[in-house]
Formats: sequence, C-alpha cells, structure tokens
Amino acid sequence: MKQVGLRLPENEYAVPIPQRVAQLKVILSIIMPVLALMGLLNYAQGHRELALVEAVVMLLVFLPALLVPSATMLKDELYLNLGELLLLTGSAVIFIMLIHDGGISGTGMLWVPIFAFEAFYFRGIRRGWYWIIGFGIGTIIALSVLGSYYSNEELWMFLPAFGFYILLAYLTNRYRLLNARRLDEKVRERTARLEHLAMHDSLTDLPNRTALIHHTQKLIDHNDGSPLSIVIINCSRFQEINNLLGHENGDMMLKQMANRLQAFAGDHMFAARLAGDEFAIALQSEDELSDAIALRELMEEPYSISHDHIEIETRIGLARYPQHGKTPEELLRHADIALRTAKTIKKSPMIYSDDQNPYSIRRLELFGQLRNAIRNHELVLYFQPKVNLASGRIVAAEALVRWMHPHEGMVAPGEFIGIAEETGLMRPMTQWIIQQAIAQQSQWIAQDIEISIGVNLSMLDLTDPSFPASIKHQLIGHQAVKKLMTLEITESAFMNFPDIALKVIRELAELGFRISIDDYGTGYSSLSYLQNMPVDELKIDQSFVFNMLENPKSEAIVRSTIELAHNLDLEVVAEGIETPAAAARLKELGCDLGQGFGLGRPMPADDLEKLYRKQQHSREVRHEQA
Ligand code: C2E
Ligand code: MG
Ligand code: MG
Repeated sequence: MKQVGLRLPENEYAVPIPQRVAQLKVILSIIMPVLALMGLLNYAQGHRELALVEAVVMLLVFLPALLVPSATMLKDELYLNLGELLLLTGSAVIFIMLIHDGGISGTGMLWVPIFAFEAFYFRGIRRGWYWIIGFGIGTIIALSVLGSYYSNEELWMFLPAFGFYILLAYLTNRYRLLNARRLDEKVRERTARLEHLAMHDSLTDLPNRTALIHHTQKLIDHNDGSPLSIVIINCSRFQEINNLLGHENGDMMLKQMANRLQAFAGDHMFAARLAGDEFAIALQSEDELSDAIALRELMEEPYSISHDHIEIETRIGLARYPQHGKTPEELLRHADIALRTAKTIKKSPMIYSDDQNPYSIRRLELFGQLRNAIRNHELVLYFQPKVNLASGRIVAAEALVRWMHPHEGMVAPGEFIGIAEETGLMRPMTQWIIQQAIAQQSQWIAQDIEISIGVNLSMLDLTDPSFPASIKHQLIGHQAVKKLMTLEITESAFMNFPDIALKVIRELAELGFRISIDDYGTGYSSLSYLQNMPVDELKIDQSFVFNMLENPKSEAIVRSTIELAHNLDLEVVAEGIETPAAAARLKELGCDLGQGFGLGRPMPADDLEKLYRKQQHSREVRHEQA
C-alpha cells in the first residue's frame, strides 16, 4: 500500500464524481435563496447595478449550474466541470461587482472571502489558486478601469483580512482533501482485501472456485487453439484421515497438498482449491495425460504430519476445452463427473466422456435425496438367511440395507453406500441400521426365534474412535442381543488404518459382539492380523464360490480358507451359493454356513420369520413321523 504523506498527490482533487455533484447541488441551493435575499436588499438600498448583476447571475449562471448537472452530471464529468465553472464564475462576477460597488467598506467585507472557500472547495488546491489569482486580477482591473471608491486605508484593511481568509480556506480544504485521500486509500485497501478473500480459500490461500472460473474464462476468451483442460484432483480417503488425525492435522495435510499443487502449477498454470479435499488446475499442456499422471504421483508421495508418514490415494478427473465444454462451468462439471467415474471404476486419471454423464446425473440426484431418506423412513433392512450346511437349518441372517425410493423403487446398497461414505451420512446410517438390527434381534429372542443377525460396518465406522461408545449406548435395555449379533467388516476397511481400526474392533468385541471378516480373499489377505484380532467368523467371498465347481484354483482357495479358519477356530461362511451343487460341494469341504440366492434371497424380516417357522414345523413333523 502507498503511504499518504503530508503532500497531496498529483491528482490532488480525488473527490468522487457523485460526491462532487452532491456538494455542488447543496451549495447552490444554499447560495440561491441567500443571493435572492441580498439582491432584494441591495435593490432596496439603491445598489441597483449590483442587484441587477445578482439577478442576471442567478438566472443565467447559477440556475443552469444547478439544473444542467442534475440532469446529466452523474453520467458525464464534463457537465460537472461546467457546473462548477459556472458557480465560480458567477460568484466571481458578483463579488467583483460587490467590491466595485464599494461593498467591502461595509458588510461586503464578510461576503467576499467566501470566494476563496468556494475556489478550493470546488476545484482543489492547485486550480483553486488559479481561480483566486484570476479573481485578484479581475478585482484590480475592475477597480482601475471602472474606478475605485476606496481610500487606501479601506483597501489596506480589506487586503490582510482577505489574505487571512484565503489562507484559512487553503488550510481547511487541504486538510479535507488529505483526509478524503486517506479514507479513499483505506477503502481501496479494504476492498482489495475483500476481493482477495472472495477469490481465495482462507485455509490454503489458493485461489478458489470463483477465481478459477474467472481465470479459465480469460483463457477461453484469448484461446488461439492451444490446449486447455480442467483437472480436478481429490484424495480418496480424506474423511478417514480427518477422523483419525484430527481436524488440525487434516488442515495441515490440506495445506501441504495445496503447496504441492502450487509447485506443480508453477507460474504458467492456475491452481485452485474447490472445496474440502478437492483441488483443480487449469492445465495448459500438449500432453495433459502425462501431466495428470505426474500430478497424481506428486500428490501421492507420502505426507509427513506430526511425525507420521501418511500415504494417500488420489483420483483425477479431466475435461478438455472445447470438446468437453465451452464454458468454465461446463468444464468443471464434466471434470467432476470424470472424477466421480474415476472413483467408481478405480481408474485415474479419467478423461471425461459423454457416456459417464447419465450415471453421474442419477448419482447426483440420489446424493441430494439420501439425506432425507433416513428421515423419511425410506430405508429398510432386508435379511438374507445364513444356513447351517450340515443340518440345512437357518441359524443366522445378514442384515442388508435397502432404500425404498419413492420414484426409483428399490435402490441397492452398492449405489448409495459409497455416496453415504463420501457425504458424511454413513455415521447416521450405520446408527440407524444397528438400532434396527438390535430391535429385530430383541424381538426374535422374545419370540424364541434363534437367528443371529449379522450387520455390515463401513470403513468409516472403524476409523471413528467414538463408534464403540455410541453402540454401547444403543445396547442399553438390550443386553441379551450382543452375544448373538455379528459385525461384518471387510479387510479393506481396516487395512488402511490398522491401528485405530484394531482398537475399535477390540472394543466392539469386548462389548460382546461376534466379529466376522467379510469378502475374505479379495483384500490384502494378510493373515497376520487374524492372530491379533478377536475374529469369530470368516466369510469366503462370492467370487470364489460362484465358479468353484468349474475352476480348480477357486476351489483350492475355498478349501484352504476353510482349513485355515478351522485351524484358527473360526466359523466359515461361504457367500454367493447359487446352486444346490455348490451347496453340496461346500458341505463336503466342511464349510459351516452357507449364504446365497440358492439358499434364500435377502427378504423382509417377516418373510424370513415365516420361512424359519415353516422349517421348524416340517422338522417337528419329521420328528413325530420318526
Ligand atoms: P456383502 O456384505 O458382501 O453382502 C452380500 C451381498 O451379496 C449382498 O448384496 C447380497 O444380496 C449379495 N448376494 C448374496 N447371495 C448372493 C448370490 O448367491 N449371488 C449373488 N450374485 N449375490 C449374492 P447387496 O445387498 O447388494 O449388498 C452389497 C454390499 O453392500 C454388501 O456386501 C455390503 O458390503 C454393503 N452393504 C449392504 N448392506 C449394508 C449395510 O447395512 N451397511 C453397510 N455398511 N454396508 C452394507
Ligand atoms: Mg456382509
Ligand atoms: Mg460379502
């Protein structure tokens, strides 16, 4: 910022135009009635000539000065200058006439100095002096040509007084202008700061979405056919990192990400933070895909946060100008769709293409509606039977959430669990699911239905240190259920942050829940954790079960998993049993439980109850027959 000294700058008269218009109008509307009154008085006292001049000036000079500017001045500085000029000229004429008329030996002495104030006030210091000098010359001419009625004594009384008023007018106006200047600087500085805030992200100080849109628009306006694309990058597990390391460290991480992004962008590219862990670059490169890969590699290098090394995975979506969008907004929207696609199909960087769009639009719609789904009771739990393969009896059931969408019909969890995880809705959703499952389990216990319920947990639940406590709270009044209930967790859910997840899992086990490893075989399949973790059950992933009859490798995996589980004293469940043949083979291999469409689809609790009763009944009939 430029410091304002005691000197006035080059363009000293920095009063803004609207303010000048206002002051001109105010002064004129004060002057005119006063002048009319003075004119009448002068006329009455016989100063006819002076009164005539005053009337002429008032009608032909001041009145236009007041009217013309009011109509046009705001638009045009030229008319404003003309108005000020008229005012000063009119005043000069009247005052010179007053002096000529002998006025300064009477009350005119008090009126004339007003001119000095007017001159500085309306034209600033430098031009004000010109006017005063001009006024002096005019006065001398008037006195010498038209003749002076004054004695030397009278003139010598007037001159110092007038000089004093000129000095006073000069000082007060100088002070006024300096203050106006200072105020102006302050406003300018504050405006600049506000503009910076409006265009920048306060955490990382990177430009924000608005700034990116402005900048991209400029690039588009001046585009000469050189390549331009919008790249959006985000971190796939930021929410967990935030949970785990706390928000302060999360912020630190974002700052480090911002620094890397800025370093990558350098001076010739534009980097921005869009929201949360989402960043963007207006990329100008012949080979944008290699650049996007380079960016990904840079962003995925380990971060050191409070003595820890944090590794992250990123996703990148890219949209190219002009094929994928002609406006910055469209490019951003499409890069965002490419980013979401990159997330779901796990391929990054992802370049936008039109066929990604319908999916994402549906997804965006669901995204908006999911929040209300819980509140509107649109979620329900279905139960899929887990059958004891040796006896054929239903002994357990997996709770699988369904969204009964008012327009879409039933939406599968695969479509909305991911959205819930991304938008922070997973926590309330899991709370709801567990509450429902506990209520159902209680009811079945009361009805002597021996089905133990399995509930799926999300990775977000396992990285939330407060999760066990909240479950404990839900168990109040339902102590009997916890020995029956199983919590299903996937390997991938705890492998990212094994320490915290292990702590959460241990606490859940201490509460009395059984712990099951879901989709076993698809994740890291590192066995070491099984020794340290309070696991009770392994669920062999469906992908091995589907084709185990045709594919010896799958069968080998299934067989060895069953053996391993039994050696570790765990119960084994095979998922995805679609045919009686598969069920029979698994029974031969010694698998304990089976689950799959061949044994029973996920169904409402009532239906499962009926199925259970029917089984019980036929068993009793068989007993009686035997
Ligand atoms: P999962 O826990 O592995 O659940 C088994 C999935 O396999 C279910 O799909 C089930 O309907 C399906 N399935 C069962 N038997 C067969 C079969 O014989 N053939 C085939 N093709 N599929 C079979 P669903 O209900 O669509 O759930 C998908 C995934 O969504 C679940 O995988 C689970 O990871 C997640 N999920 C479902 N409900 C919840 C929930 O309440 N909370 C959380 N956090 N995740 C859930
Ligand atoms: Mg499961
Ligand atoms: Mg599974």
